[in-house]
Parts: sequence; structure tokens; C-alpha cells
Amino acid sequence: MSEATQPIPYEALYEAHGHKCPMSTLGARLGDYGSRLLGLAAGEMAGRYEIPTCARDGIAMTTGCRADDGSLEVEDLQHHRLWLWPKSGGQGVCVALSERAIAESRGYRLLDEKAKEAMLSHLRLLPDEELMEASRVPAR
Ligand SMILES: [Zn+2]
Repeated sequence: MSEATQPIPYEALYEAHGHKCPMSTLGARLGDYGSRLLGLAAGEMAGRYEIPTCARDGIAMTTGCRADDGSLEVEDLQHHRLWLWPKSGGQGVCVALSERAIAESRGYRLLDEKAKEAMLSHLRLLPDEELMEASRVPAR
């Protein structure tokens, strides 16, 4: 894992995304973790995401993979699961949100502003291993 990782620019993400929400936050975490596991910078990967949620904007920010240029395929399999492969070829990673992450991001819209901020802060700070499950996958 790279030590020289940059902090995720959440304020820029929320600005670009148009609102603050759990799934854009978690998409950024998925992409950030997957990139670090591959040791690649944004723009050096192509990927697939298996549920069409707000997570796509977070994934785009941390991996450079976007649906509009074909570097992110989006399917609707109802899995919060991101697959990333180096554009140069070779083994990839699959990073999925844990049951805990999904459970702890429920009910956001029903919260008041203070509780919303607390939830997002919690999702930004939970350790990678508690938020996500990662595995190596073969080259595509
Ligand atoms: Zn959103």
C-alpha cells in the first residue's frame, strides 16, 4: 500500500456531485482503497461498478473511471462492488462495501443536518478494513 496517499477532497466531491450524501462518500472510499491496493493513480485504471448510485461520482474522483468516457462500466446487479484493473493490463482488485457500511449509511435523508454531518464524518473516518472487503481478481 502506498504511503504517499493524498487525502480525499470531499468538499470538492460534494461540490461536483451537487449534494452531500453517504453513497458519494462511500464511492470515494471504494475508489481510494482500490487505487491504493493497485498502487495506481487516478486515470491509470478502468473499472466496473455493480449498482447505479451516487457512488459513481466518488469513484470518478478517486480513480478517474467514468461512465461517460467508457472507463467505468455500470451495471445494475444491486451489489455495492467496484472492480478495478490497471489500464496497462494485469491483475485487478474487487472492493465491496461491508454489510456494516451499508447498514450505517441507511436513513440519511431522515436525519437532521447535525446528524447528517455526523454520519458523513463517520463514513469518511471508518478504517478501510471495517468499511470494505477487498480481494485480488484475475486480469480481464
Ligand atoms: Zn448523492
